[in-house]
Amino acid sequence: MKQICIVGAGASGCVCAYFLKKAGFEVILFDWGKPLRTILPTGGGRCNLAHGEYDFKELAKNYPRGEKFLYSVFSKFSTYDTLSLFEDLGIKTYTQENGRIFPVSNNSNDVRSAILRAINSVNIVNEKVETIKPQNEGYKVKTNKAEYFFSDVVIATGGGLKNKPISGLSHNIIEFAPALVGLKSDLTNLSGVVLKDVYSHDCKISDDILFTHFGISGPLVYKISSIKTKDSFPYMLSFDLYRKDLDLQKELNDNPHKDLKNILAKFFPHRFAEYISGNFSEIKGHKIDGKIRDLILEKIHNFELNILGTDKGEETVTAGGYDLNEVNPKTMESKLYPNLYIIGEALDIDGFCGGFNLQNAWSTAFVAANAIIK
Ligand SMILES: Cc1cc2nc3c(=O)[nH]c(=O)nc-3n(C[C@H](O)[C@H](O)[C@H](O)COP(=O)(O)OP(=O)(O)OC[C@H]3O[C@@H](n4cnc5c(N)ncnc54)[C@H](O)[C@@H]3O)c2cc1C
Repeated sequence: MKQICIVGAGASGCVCAYFLKKAGFEVILFDWGKPLRTILPTGGGRCNLAHGEYDFKELAKNYPRGEKFLYSVFSKFSTYDTLSLFEDLGIKTYTQENGRIFPVSNNSNDVRSAILRAINSVNIVNEKVETIKPQNEGYKVKTNKAEYFFSDVVIATGGGLKNKPISGLSHNIIEFAPALVGLKSDLTNLSGVVLKDVYSHDCKISDDILFTHFGISGPLVYKISSIKTKDSFPYMLSFDLYRKDLDLQKELNDNPHKDLKNILAKFFPHRFAEYISGNFSEIKGHKIDGKIRDLILEKIHNFELNILGTDKGEETVTAGGYDLNEVNPKTMESKLYPNLYIIGEALDIDGFCGGFNLQNAWSTAFVAANAIIK
């Protein structure tokens, strides 16, 4: 049996090692840090390891980059396979109402321990891989400590901003950009306010927004940050805060002696109702004429924010990475270098919040391992 080199002992690298080891291959895993430490903060420490979407084409829709590439990958290893993988590893799971799948223990450390237990005979070398160069039908792998030679190499180095891509290969790397991250705006005095079911005119999706000390965050903002990774700052975002018919005239008629801010507080948190009613906040209902009413309605249906940047260093994933045009989705093998495979977030693939990024890690790990085994 040949020895397979995996660079990166994160989610994809360790699970790839698991499948290869199970098939009897000898595996050597390189990582400069502790193996699988990257899984510990996932899902707020609970590890949202997959999403309860069982149609692989629907599942692939949750990836702003990689959707088409993942059709083939998910047709080979999808949500059902993830659940049986974790069943085999002794991890029982449950699905939350919003589709997110977690271990029953709600503890990412249990997921980490189970995977590490299953690969305990794999040689994990605490070295940083600096270059990979093709040599005599294989690859010379140079680390910060030594040089090795392998016939097969799997690159599983994860997302980009802090990891410098390994040198020696001529793969095109799509520029890294933060995704699933809060956005900075000049409106910072509403920190703590949550708006439910807001619609983004720009991205045509709805979810909740949380105002923070730096701008906005929450599920809708994470999605927008992923969709708009390539837009340069500053840019404007426009939201509809209340899409069902808010009959403001009826509210004004029914509450003639109430301040506008208190009338709007029926629909929004108090602080936001005061903010959106602006200079008219303390004007009574019966004094609000048609012009003011329409101005307020326009602000509600077209609420605009100037976006200045991302909440630096807080990104959950990165867009960018190894160009998908140079990787075969049926095997994860490089189209430029035989027996060189690229998996996980190292690829130019990123998903929304909800277990999609780990699903990409497990699925691409399986497809690469399966190709090597065959
Ligand atoms: C705070 C946080 C919460 C998250 N929560 C979730 C969640 O709940 N659900 C979800 O689906 N996704 C979540 N993610 C995303 C998910 O963790 C990643 O998408 C996933 O870990 C990617 O797996 P990977 O194997 O590609 O890379 P990683 O797990 O990042 O592993 C890459 C490994 O490669 C090593 N490495 C890199 N370069 C080298 C080198 N040159 N030599 C040696 N080793 C190297 C790194 O040290 C690292 O250990 C979260 C991410 C963060 C940051």
